[in-house]
Amino acid sequence: MEQSHQTTTSAQALCRDALVWDAHSCMPLLPGVDLSGLARYRDSGINYVCLNVGMDMNPVTDVIRVLAHFRSWLRDRPEDYVLAGSVADIRAAEAGGRLAVAFDLEGALPLAGDLAMVQLYHDLGVRQMHFAYNRNNHVGGGCHDSDIPLSAFGRALVEEINRVGLLMDCSHTGRRTSLDIMEASSKPVVFSHSNSKSLRDHARNIDSEQIEACAATGGVIGINGIGLLLGDASTEAMVAHIDHVAQIVGASHVGIGLDFVFMPDVEDLPPGTDRTYWWPSDAGYGTAYSSLTFVEPEWLPALIDRLLAMGYSDADIRAVLGGNFMRVAEESWR
Ligand SMILES: [Zn+2]
Repeated sequence: MEQSHQTTTSAQALCRDALVWDAHSCMPLLPGVDLSGLARYRDSGINYVCLNVGMDMNPVTDVIRVLAHFRSWLRDRPEDYVLAGSVADIRAAEAGGRLAVAFDLEGALPLAGDLAMVQLYHDLGVRQMHFAYNRNNHVGGGCHDSDIPLSAFGRALVEEINRVGLLMDCSHTGRRTSLDIMEASSKPVVFSHSNSKSLRDHARNIDSEQIEACAATGGVIGINGIGLLLGDASTEAMVAHIDHVAQIVGASHVGIGLDFVFMPDVEDLPPGTDRTYWWPSDAGYGTAYSSLTFVEPEWLPALIDRLLAMGYSDADIRAVLGGNFMRVAEESWR
């Protein structure tokens, strides 16, 4: 932790008392990995986190093994963690001082082209998914690729995600595909971890039209804590992105998606993966997760302090910290 923050007692109290929802974070995608770093989240006042279990480059067998391990690790520690399937589970976890955890898929390739896999992943605890991860696939466009529309399969996938009840997530998705998804979805659509392109010009970030389209669905943009996508891994930069999105569409459409990578030194890509295909070098990703910088969970009170100093109300801050994602989950999950 590079930054040391003096925070007011009101910010600390608000952080402890509010429902805090982190829409996306990353543990190494390896069976057997130690998840005890999650205690940092619980101790920082975070009540719910959505953990990635697979991206478009991960084979289905690996995704299933990671799910099996994450589920059993959490199930073995019922005093500290809850495998959350519903908003009620998250509220119960909060009341008991435990961290609620559900899972997300970053891309639709782990469905192996079969819509029935959406229900299977839901039954295994997945509550949020993207259509494409940075690169185009048969479902739609990725943000680091040519801008293509949502495919016919992609349209059927929108319906199936709505029917099964997952958060429809357009982070990492290409611009045109994201606009198609938001038009087609009958439920709110989120960007779980995406920042504003007008503050930080990067292909992973989203423009005002995408931000407005997301809000028009009733959705939420989770502000990402990676320095590369913020401009700088600091509470100041994070708050600038929160405030920017709130200025465009209101504080009821902003949330937090830290994208915190717990063990950036651990290499977890499948053997033979071409890192620069998925994370193009000219986009500044560097050669490993460890080249990235992150806003850390312990900085939340400092972030709250800054929002208070800017005149954000207690109610708006609670909405940004988790109330908005709770609202969308209530509408989307079954
Ligand atoms: Zn991501």
